[in-house]
Amino acid sequence: MRLSKYFMPILRHDPKEAEIVSHRLMLRTGMIRQESAGIYSWLPLGHRVLRKIEQIVREEQDRAGAIEVLMPTIQSADLWRKSGRYDDYGKEMLRITDRHDRDMLYGPTNEEMITDIFKSGVQSYKDLPRNLYHIQWKFRDEVRPRFGIMRGREFLMKDAYSFDMSAQAGRHSYNKMFLAYLRTFQRMGLTAIPMRADTGPIGGDLSHEFLVLANTGESAVFFDRSYLEKNWNQENIDQDDVDGLQSAIDGFTSHYAATDEIHDPAEFEKLNDDQRVEGRGIEVGHIFFFGTKYSTPLECLVQGPDGKAVPVHSGSYGIGVSRLVAGIIEASHDDDGIIWPQAVAPFDVGLINLKAGDADTDAACEKIYAELSNAGLDVLYDDTDNRAGGKFATMDMVGLPWQVIAGPRGLKEGQVEVKNRQTGERKSVGLEEAINQLTSL
Ligand code: ATP
Ligand code: MG
Repeated sequence: MRLSKYFMPILRHDPKEAEIVSHRLMLRTGMIRQESAGIYSWLPLGHRVLRKIEQIVREEQDRAGAIEVLMPTIQSADLWRKSGRYDDYGKEMLRITDRHDRDMLYGPTNEEMITDIFKSGVQSYKDLPRNLYHIQWKFRDEVRPRFGIMRGREFLMKDAYSFDMSAQAGRHSYNKMFLAYLRTFQRMGLTAIPMRADTGPIGGDLSHEFLVLANTGESAVFFDRSYLEKNWNQENIDQDDVDGLQSAIDGFTSHYAATDEIHDPAEFEKLNDDQRVEGRGIEVGHIFFFGTKYSTPLECLVQGPDGKAVPVHSGSYGIGVSRLVAGIIEASHDDDGIIWPQAVAPFDVGLINLKAGDADTDAACEKIYAELSNAGLDVLYDDTDNRAGGKFATMDMVGLPWQVIAGPRGLKEGQVEVKNRQTGERKSVGLEEAINQLTSL
């Protein structure tokens, strides 16, 4: 992408409404624009990151055996009346009346709808287990939308729903999602720690939240240092081995980890000093097993091997896809701007032309741009005639993993500079070498 043809409205000054770094940087780099309180447009740069995160979430859901569907954002109130949540949900639910005076709502979540969908498609125990998910916009009329898309009113969520014949089988479905979550967040370059959670109004007795560590997180977190040491993508766990998966997860969750809501200082104090970690965290995912809470009122019954119809056992599994964009920035930035982990970066390489209009520099940049692009890399090419200082500052703020800087002085010796945004290291290398280095990443 050539910056001269792109839409990336950079703000020159810090917007005063931004209280946390991710909100400030998302506005400054032109990733999002507020349309009304807690409601945002995703501009091209932000949209690219959102899509990358969404894709990682999708791949890990698929890998865990979940099946993608897409439910509407607007729902009828009928099913919510049946489950009893139409009244319980209160003011967070945006209620709408259509032209026929029917009560509708903008979905804050989808337990009722998916249970009804499942009910209409499945009759026998032979069709279970199943896990259906979608990635769809939700609306919750939060009392205090704030921190940009971190706590929005409209936000993108992945929500999955498992269906099993028994609580025991449901536990295995829960464990599979647990593992998928650890892998998902790790692929994004995040350390996300699972913490036992209150089940709240959704009910049930098995629930974990996944928290990303960041100083600006809304929750205080207390945990054992051993959580920082696992590699879930290399760990060889067979997700279909019921006992093996259970013991992997039991082993992992046997260490202390809690948010302020359920923190037990006496338990925490039992850890060695050097094992105790205190900090703040952002909730990026939340999983629940709630059994027959919705299948009973919504009459979602399945015929067992003995011919008797029984309510299915379910869990629901959410990931804050749009919140993750901000969460990653909170966890990965410095004074100069964002530092995107490779897996979610909007572009792989930022190419800076230090003298647009100079024939040799233009030609060298065109060559680099073409060869990197042909090798499948996404390149953001700053081909504008802005000042060099401004170009450096913008590229650092946008935070792409690599930069290639080309100017007449270096090119006289056939050299360009390659910069690693994370380490800050800058090296002069031959033009061909720069191309080879980046295409072999
Ligand atoms: P919170 O405690 O942050 O209000 P929640 O517990 O109400 O969230 P869940 O119902 O567990 O949210 O939703 C699943 C995930 O969706 C959360 O873990 C979070 O990452 C994301 N999420 C929830 N509310 C918002 C919001 N207002 N803006 C952005 N993301 C959100
Ligand atoms: Mg939650």
